[in-house]
Amino acid sequence: MNNTKLLIIGSGPAGYTAGIYAGRANLSPVLLEGLQPGGQLTTTTDVENFPGWPDGVDAGELMDSMRRQAERFGTQILPNVATKVDLDVRPFKVTLDDGNEWMADSIILATGASAKYLGLSDEQKYMGRGVSACATCDGFFYRKKVVAVVGGGDTACEEASYLAGLAQKVYLIVRKPYLRASKIMQERVLGNEKIEVLFETNTLGLFGENGVEGAHLVYRKGESDERQYDLPIDGFFLAIGHHPNSELVASWLKTDENGFIITEGDTPCTAIPGVFAAGDVADAKYRQAVIAAGSGAKAAMEAEKFLAQ
Ligand code: NDP
Repeated sequence: MNNTKLLIIGSGPAGYTAGIYAGRANLSPVLLEGLQPGGQLTTTTDVENFPGWPDGVDAGELMDSMRRQAERFGTQILPNVATKVDLDVRPFKVTLDDGNEWMADSIILATGASAKYLGLSDEQKYMGRGVSACATCDGFFYRKKVVAVVGGGDTACEEASYLAGLAQKVYLIVRKPYLRASKIMQERVLGNEKIEVLFETNTLGLFGENGVEGAHLVYRKGESDERQYDLPIDGFFLAIGHHPNSELVASWLKTDENGFIITEGDTPCTAIPGVFAAGDVADAKYRQAVIAAGSGAKAAMEAEKFLAQ
């Protein structure tokens, strides 16, 4: 059995920043890196909106810097995944994928969220070469180009509007004959002359030599007037929702209808004293690296206060 004052679960900007702050507070935290060390950001290439890098920074390099900074202050990083937690006992009990168990006086959940994909093999093939699930992160690379956004919710409309400010043309690919987004977002999209909404349309695949050059689409699939065609595009953005990685604690903590952990006000405190949630797993709205980092710092400060009591 291993013991720690603070166990941080997750290695995105929230987890590593929590490690930096908790390490500097002499808490000797243990951080579980999980399946995707560095988190969601490692699925992109350059990061241009993280303060401190005026010329942009390679996403892998940014996350590696955060990792080293956390280690410098004494965060012990394990390459493991937490498979089970027991938040009914004190200290809390966490089981890892290697079978080891950790007893932790406090826990910071920073397990992030994962963008949903359509499940096409071409999404993997062109990942980082025309396929993205974050317009704010990657939109800038498509200035004056033609892009498509998939989805009909608020995220898709927001991303399409954002991209319309950069790109020459934006197609919004919507599988239903209507948008699910809020009225105001719909109006913004439908009133934007750079955005063309393709209703009742699904994506069958992508094509291109070195990167995305177009999408194979189908209009009214399965109907008598079904029509398949190719749409030339330079970028393909997924905006069909995010899936917060909160299953681990779902039976202990309150989540919203989409699974995002609900914390108290704008703090990272959950209903269980000593358990904190930071980053995208508790953020249905912003989902930005810099915001996740900030919430990781807050969680570490709250953990320090809790442990001192
Ligand atoms: P939503 O679940 O609201 O919308 C997902 C969209 O993706 C829907 O149009 C859905 O289609 C479509 N979709 C899902 N799966 C597929 C698929 N396999 N193929 C094609 N299309 C698919 O997710 P959002 O991320 O848009 O929003 C999540 C929550 O966050 C919402 O509550 C939203 O209001 C909120 N939000 C608020 C914002 C704001 O206030 N500014 C900004 C962004 C999000 P269908 O309609 O057919 O199911």
